[in-house]
Amino acid sequence: MFKFKKLMAVAAACALSVAAFTGCGGDQQATSGSGAASGEKILRVGCSADFAPFEFQDETQKEFQGFDMDLIRAIGKEMGREVEIKDMGFDGLIPALQAKNIDAIISGMTINEERQKNVNFSDPYYEAGLTMIVRDNEEAIKKFQDLKGKKVAVQIGTTSAEEVKKIEGVEIKELNTPADCFMELKANGVDAVVNDKPVNEYYITKSGATGVKELTEKLTAENYGIAMSKDNADLQKEINAALKKLKDNGEYQKIYDKWFGGAKK
Ligand code: GLN
Repeated sequence: MFKFKKLMAVAAACALSVAAFTGCGGDQQATSGSGAASGEKILRVGCSADFAPFEFQDETQKEFQGFDMDLIRAIGKEMGREVEIKDMGFDGLIPALQAKNIDAIISGMTINEERQKNVNFSDPYYEAGLTMIVRDNEEAIKKFQDLKGKKVAVQIGTTSAEEVKKIEGVEIKELNTPADCFMELKANGVDAVVNDKPVNEYYITKSGATGVKELTEKLTAENYGIAMSKDNADLQKEINAALKKLKDNGEYQKIYDKWFGGAKK
């Protein structure tokens, strides 16, 4: 019923705007009222929405959910730009940025030298690192060095993939999403999953995972940043300014508390 009412309201609004403009939603510029070109107003942000609690889809909600999603919307608001989220595979994000299909990436993306050759990063906005998930009854794997001779699932294109490759004698399975990795572990296709700590923690504590456990050893210390095109230094400045403002005015902390339960940053 609610949905139907909403639909009627939208239909009515469209009918009205048809009189004023040429169509419904057809021309962003005409309806924005600011005179800015539509392309400049909308900030197109790519993410790989498979990474709860940073970016994911909740079937009860239309919008993408998560810490990154709230943060980038707050940043957009500060900048006076509407944020449009585009969901794609993690390994396709930097190519999409380079092809100018998106203006920025927020996707739990670790700032590292390799990526810095191709993109600019914002100031760090979250500190993470890698941990490992194994089956409950796993006895042989207690730390990363125990992975020698074992099969490990990682998400393709991630720092997990990179780090696990450095451990000698590991058989790596690079899969599309962390969910695919967890499934593979449960199906005995691999012995361990290496992935970002906050995502592993969320999987264990919030998504009702059974039969698996997270090991405490943390392999790396990593910082997440928002990635942008190398030739858009202005955007980098604007995003950093907005991020700083949100940190200073407590908004960042509010978003942090919402997703990470009030621990102080
Ligand atoms: N932080 C990791 C990386 O940057 C994983 C990110 C992700 O899977 N969304 O590679």
